[in-house]
Amino acid sequence: MDKIDNLITFSSGSNKTRGSEYGKIAQSLGKKDTKVRDDTSMKPEVKEKIKKWVANKKVNRDLERTTTLLEKITKTESEWREVLSEEQFKICRKKGTEQAFSGKYWDCHDRGNYHCTCCGTPLFSSITKFDSGTGWPSYYQPLTPESIATEHDTLFFMRRTEVLCRNCDSHLGHVFEDGPEPTGLRYCINSASLVLHKAESS
Ligand SMILES: [Zn+2]
Repeated sequence: MDKIDNLITFSSGSNKTRGSEYGKIAQSLGKKDTKVRDDTSMKPEVKEKIKKWVANKKVNRDLERTTTLLEKITKTESEWREVLSEEQFKICRKKGTEQAFSGKYWDCHDRGNYHCTCCGTPLFSSITKFDSGTGWPSYYQPLTPESIATEHDTLFFMRRTEVLCRNCDSHLGHVFEDGPEPTGLRYCINSASLVLHKAESS
C-alpha cells in the first residue's frame, strides 16, 4: 500500500461521506461501500491528492484493459488526407474547430473510451465527460497525462492552451481552467478528433 492507500479507509459507508463529493465519486465508481475519510484536519493538498486518486483509479483500470502502447506516428499531409475525411483533416491536422453543437459527441452519454481519430490512441473516458453547455464534448481529465500534449496557443491573440494527441500530434481542442472538480479543468475537444469505442454492456 502506498501513502494515499493508507489515507483511504474502506468501511460500510457513513452519513458523513454519503452524498458528499467523495461519496458521489465513490458511487460513480460502483463502490457504494467505499468511505473516503473526509477529515477537516486533513491538509487541503492531501485531500486534493485523494480526490485525484479516486477519480484516476477507475480511469486507469479502463486504460489497462484497452491500451497497448502505440508507436509515435508521422505521416505527410497527403497521407493524412487519404485516411481522413475533409472535416477531420481540417480539424485534426490544420487545427480547425468544428461548430458548436454540430459534432457527433457533444451530447453523447454512451459509456466507453474516446480514441484519437488519427492514430487510435485512447484519450478520454466517458467517466470524466461532463455537460459543459458549450456544444463540444468536454472532459475534466485525459485518460492518462501521457496520452496528450499541451501547447501554448496565441492564435487570433487569444491566450489558450492547445491539446494535442501526443502520439500523432493531432489537434484535439483546448483546455481551460473553469472545469468541475476534481481537477477544475475543462478539456474542450472537437468530436471530429475523437472516435468513441463503446464499452461492452455489463
Ligand atoms: Zn493520435
